[in-house]
Amino acid sequence: MLEVTLLGCGGMLPMKERWLTSCLLSCQGHSILVDCGEGTQIALKCAERKTIPVDLICITHFHADHISGLPGFLLSMGNEGRTDPVTIAGPPGIERVVKSLCVIAPNLPFEINCMEAEPGTAFQSGLLTVTPFEAKHSVRCFGYSVELHRKARFSPEKAKENSVPMKIWSLLQKNGKAEYEGKSYTYDMVSEGERKGLKVTYCTDSRPADTIAQYARNSDLFICEGLYYDPEKYDRTLKTKHMMFSEAAAIAKRADVKRLWLTHFSPAVQEPEQGLGYAAEIFPDTECGCDGKSIDLLFEDTGRC
Ligand SMILES: [Zn+2]
Ligand SMILES: [Zn+2]
Repeated sequence: MLEVTLLGCGGMLPMKERWLTSCLLSCQGHSILVDCGEGTQIALKCAERKTIPVDLICITHFHADHISGLPGFLLSMGNEGRTDPVTIAGPPGIERVVKSLCVIAPNLPFEINCMEAEPGTAFQSGLLTVTPFEAKHSVRCFGYSVELHRKARFSPEKAKENSVPMKIWSLLQKNGKAEYEGKSYTYDMVSEGERKGLKVTYCTDSRPADTIAQYARNSDLFICEGLYYDPEKYDRTLKTKHMMFSEAAAIAKRADVKRLWLTHFSPAVQEPEQGLGYAAEIFPDTECGCDGKSIDLLFEDTGRC
């Protein structure tokens, strides 16, 4: 199972009932935090989630509404007893920015490893595969695609064909390889067929770009910025290099995703639901995000992980 929780969906400034941008993805005891706007440590508490499982923090770009919550969040992790290292990935310059922010969060009880993400180059965090991609904002900005791959189906017929002793079948399913009576066996000797995994793509802040549709392709959940919905705000959206509800929906349609959640609403958008129609007429499976909105994504055929 892959659990996705929107911690905050505000753009630019926090509101009384809307935290700044942040999203948590959790899978089997490991979590990834994407963006860490001011107050994310509080948003996390409101959503009744913990900092401890967060092994990776992915930053989209260096605008305050996406990263200024980092010192407080790291201090919270320390207070909750984290001692394992934490990786913070982001655009080039991430180390300088994190080091600067950490001046006010000294003596953390865990190591921080900064990693300059490279668009198109996937990396692993727990069971999840993360692929950064280029967005199109006023500063360098990355979106992130997160995938939970799935092993091929176990096949007793194939195991018998390959003369794999029954005694090690479960070991092969668990570990992917096994030794028995001096011979080595691998999982591909007892499995066949590809199985669809799970995919979540997150992108904010950006103008529409081919890369977004490309990396969001076939996502089970696409979380995308919708700063405004009112067509009168289009010029402003264009100028500040953000995206309208309708533009996010057009990408969702083109990328053939299963569902779209809008996020990063302007403080001027008091009730995002009022603009939902602008997106839903293009891509019907659109929902407006809200703080604490959560979904458990399950594998298609079994409904299990
Ligand atoms: Zn922003
Ligand atoms: Zn921005």
